[in-house]
Amino acid sequence: MKSLSVLYRGALTSCNYSCSYCPFAKRIETVEEREADKQTLTRFTEWALAQQDLALSLFFTPWGEALVRTHYQKALVALSHAPHVKKVVFQTNLSSRLDFLHEANTEKIALWVTYHPGEVEREAFLQQCERLIAMKVRFSVGIVGKPSHFAEIAQMRKDLPQEIYLWINAYRGKSRLYPYTEEQTAYLSHIDPLFSINAKDYPSRGKSCLTGEDVISVDEHGTMFRCHFVSRPLGNIYQDNYRDQLKPRTCPRSSCYCHIGYVHMPERELYPQFEGGILERIPIRF
Ligand code: SF4
Ligand code: SF4
Repeated sequence: MKSLSVLYRGALTSCNYSCSYCPFAKRIETVEEREADKQTLTRFTEWALAQQDLALSLFFTPWGEALVRTHYQKALVALSHAPHVKKVVFQTNLSSRLDFLHEANTEKIALWVTYHPGEVEREAFLQQCERLIAMKVRFSVGIVGKPSHFAEIAQMRKDLPQEIYLWINAYRGKSRLYPYTEEQTAYLSHIDPLFSINAKDYPSRGKSCLTGEDVISVDEHGTMFRCHFVSRPLGNIYQDNYRDQLKPRTCPRSSCYCHIGYVHMPERELYPQFEGGILERIPIRF
């Protein structure tokens, strides 16, 4: 059975947090926008449930915080019970109630959790992590490596159970990498041994990348792209022939610097390091 990973980024563009660097901070959608998001998510969920000859890994990467919405919670629960769905992964700030997970097949769920110092008390966040551990939900925790976060990053690593991977995303201002000193890089690498992988721009134009063949990105209309960073559409998943477009292609962009992108470049050789946790960013060893 062919395997396909699908990244879904729907119409939602709202968040209950107010991180200073984020365009979705404290944005609230209108009733109409929320209804449209719900309807298009329902269509995507039905499509995924119908692709029974594919081994699907689904990754929700919303513009904002979606897991606080019951329609996303219901979609996640429904998808987790489908035999051909191998995994359902969700990016979240973990601010929602987690009771709904009791209805899900938690063996198939994994969360990409982000911690935002200043937006949530550390203790409250850790309690949410404990709830996930009690429910046997796999997850990683990530923090942006802003210099003002350094002390909080170290404290979080100390407080988080050692079996939970804490990743640090290199801080970027308008896509430009923050100029970390050697000392700062060493400090962050001591906490996240894989930090230096993220703290680089990888030249990618003309290079092989599995997106567009084994991994696709889909928007609320079903428009299919190879990844979130290349805007040229490949087709539409709601058309019968969409699989004709799943084929090898080289990258048209000059560089790739986000885990959800460069992890699929064979030359990075990251699949063996993240085997079983590529989408949710859980390495085998850390
Ligand atoms: S939690 Fe994420 S989506 Fe929400 S404001 Fe912060 S960075 Fe943006
Ligand atoms: S290398 Fe990055 S930008 Fe290029 S196609 Fe792959 S994921 Fe997209």
